Amino acid sequence: MKNLVVAIDGPAGAGKSTVAQLAAKELGYTYIDTGAMYRAVAWKTLQRHEPVTDELILDVVKDIDVNLQYIDGKTRVTVGNDDVSALIRTPEVSAIVSQVAALGPVRVKMVDLQRKMAERGSVLMDGRDIATNVLPNADVKIFLTASIEERAHRRWKEMKEKGYDIPLEKLQQDIAARDKADSEREISPLVQAEDATLLDTTGISIEEVVARILAMCQ
Ligand code: C5P
Repeated sequence: MKNLVVAIDGPAGAGKSTVAQLAAKELGYTYIDTGAMYRAVAWKTLQRHEPVTDELILDVVKDIDVNLQYIDGKTRVTVGNDDVSALIRTPEVSAIVSQVAALGPVRVKMVDLQRKMAERGSVLMDGRDIATNVLPNADVKIFLTASIEERAHRRWKEMKEKGYDIPLEKLQQDIAARDKADSEREISPLVQAEDATLLDTTGISIEEVVARILAMCQ
């Protein structure tokens, strides 16, 4: 088996983590969910119970200890001694994560960790700026997307399974707002790398998407 570095970028709800985890399992690779790291910083910021300003976020990130482990096919995210794996998936965290991720010092710290995690290869990393910034020399670069309607519907199903009853229209608006913020920010915006392969998953089954990714890793 080749010791590849695979970068998957794309907008919110494109199915990156679902397909990346399945592909990582097939390949016997480690999966690195970089969005989880920005979410961890957002979670820690909310723990302060203060108005969320850039100053507050910068203060929180100064001494934050975020750790990501991939064990038995599951991502475990810790902040200090707290396991925040489930806590980082709430609508409250989603609402502020793009503000958190737009700040330079936050990105510098997270990108440094991400590069260290990819050093040994055999990794599949997903996010927004992996192919363009974090791992520009990745062996395989994929830009995964789907229509906004399909992405909102997937997220709606996911949230419903977790017990959240959020109207589909509200989720679609939230996703569109997050995409806009992520695409228009100054530092490492969400954009398809010139040498990335576009994979539009609208109407395509998860199995088919995984098969296409695996074919690119041959
Ligand atoms: O992937 P996920 O939707 O969990 O990412 C949450 C947020 O983290 C994104 O909306 C984006 O603001 C930020 N992010 C980022 N760069 C990455 C991964 C995520 O800015 N590489």
